[in-house]
Amino acid sequence: MIFFSTTKTTAPVSLKKATLEGLAPDGGLYVPSEIPRFSEEELGLLESGSFNNVAFAIAKKFAGDEIPLDRLSRLIDECFPFETPLQELSAGTFIEELFHGPTLAFKDYGARFLARMTGAFAAEDQKMITVLVATSGDTGSAVAYGFHGIPNTRVVLLYPSGKVSRLQEQQLTTAGDNVFALEVRGDFDDCQRLVKQAFVDTDLKQKLTLTSANSINISRLIPQSFYYAWASLQLRKRFPGKLPLISVPSGNYGNLTAGLMAKMMGFPIGHFIAASNANDSVTRYLDEGRFEPKPTVTTLTTAMDVGNPSNFARLRHFFDGDFRKMGTEISGIAVSDAETVEAIRSVYKTFGYIMDPHTAVGFRALEKYRGEHSVAGEPGVVLSTAHPVKFDDAIMTAIGQEVPIPEEMKEIMEKQKNATLIGNGYEELARFLSNLD
Ligand SMILES: *Cc1c(COP(=O)(O)O)cnc(C)c1O
Repeated sequence: MIFFSTTKTTAPVSLKKATLEGLAPDGGLYVPSEIPRFSEEELGLLESGSFNNVAFAIAKKFAGDEIPLDRLSRLIDECFPFETPLQELSAGTFIEELFHGPTLAFKDYGARFLARMTGAFAAEDQKMITVLVATSGDTGSAVAYGFHGIPNTRVVLLYPSGKVSRLQEQQLTTAGDNVFALEVRGDFDDCQRLVKQAFVDTDLKQKLTLTSANSINISRLIPQSFYYAWASLQLRKRFPGKLPLISVPSGNYGNLTAGLMAKMMGFPIGHFIAASNANDSVTRYLDEGRFEPKPTVTTLTTAMDVGNPSNFARLRHFFDGDFRKMGTEISGIAVSDAETVEAIRSVYKTFGYIMDPHTAVGFRALEKYRGEHSVAGEPGVVLSTAHPVKFDDAIMTAIGQEVPIPEEMKEIMEKQKNATLIGNGYEELARFLSNLD
């Protein structure tokens, strides 16, 4: 499959090049030249398949001409050794739990696939790829555990000392082997500045092949379409002739973009709800047709605190820049912190189910949408993007209870922290990177 940049000023590239580059040289985001379509017959066959069968069928359409199929099939099995449960909260309302991966958040789906694709492509060229990431928490941990043990790759993570939670720090610093954690005496902006400096360091480029693993990489988006496709097929069996509404707690809008791609491939999906917190630039665009990103506001749902969402360029591309067209597929609904806490509380009280705050934003947005539109009979799905234990302060505020710590997390909490403390000047980072291998 061929990919081109949203700004269309660079030549089309292979999946390999798009994956290893991340961002196109013209600053645009890679998009597929055409979205592959599944026929009704193919969908029928997949309906009785497993999650990994569906994932493989999609991956094959995007990567089948670049990676041998038996290799791709093994790669998919290595990516998703965990469950993707679709829990029925009440009649016709489902929570798709995307937090059963090693770091307990949906970013595991994207990071694990990206890691294995990067490893496969790097092995072809007998290269060692060094992934350099600045992180304030969740992306970094998914990347650390995603790339852990993948041949031909290594990861260097920079995180601000004392500015991530203990649980996050454990996730960032305990993978070991080919994953190196640098604890920076500074804040997140220092970490980002250092990473940017490394990317333009020509001496370093002679020694290392550097890449980033941020959410704009097309190989992080492709695997996120898998769980939309899988859920839609499960629901079609139970609700024949009805198309599900899917509510997506959004920050950079990568997750929502992946959902749209699943729908364009022909999977039976109805309407999307783009659920946001007070960072509502896309919601306002959908209402008014003007995209006016604002400085980021801090909310309870920190993983969605994005003032200027990076995947907006892709969304706009898919709708030819027409906000009315976008509005026929997506409704934007903003949810306040107070409503988020109330949603966690009421869902717990009514169903005994503990939702993380990001999921609660999605849930509340679905309720609002249903209150304003007549959508009787259509099932609704809320994507649950994180395990509640990751945001236990908010849960405590809402329901006055601790969240039981899952087994995987207990293991990580007991591991030895392994990080190198560095200052916020570039020389120390440059020295560390030059001394790798
Ligand atoms: C990253 C993240 C989101 C937002 O996803 P986008 O793809 O950036 O829109 C939502 N919830 C959680 C828990 C996240 O970590």
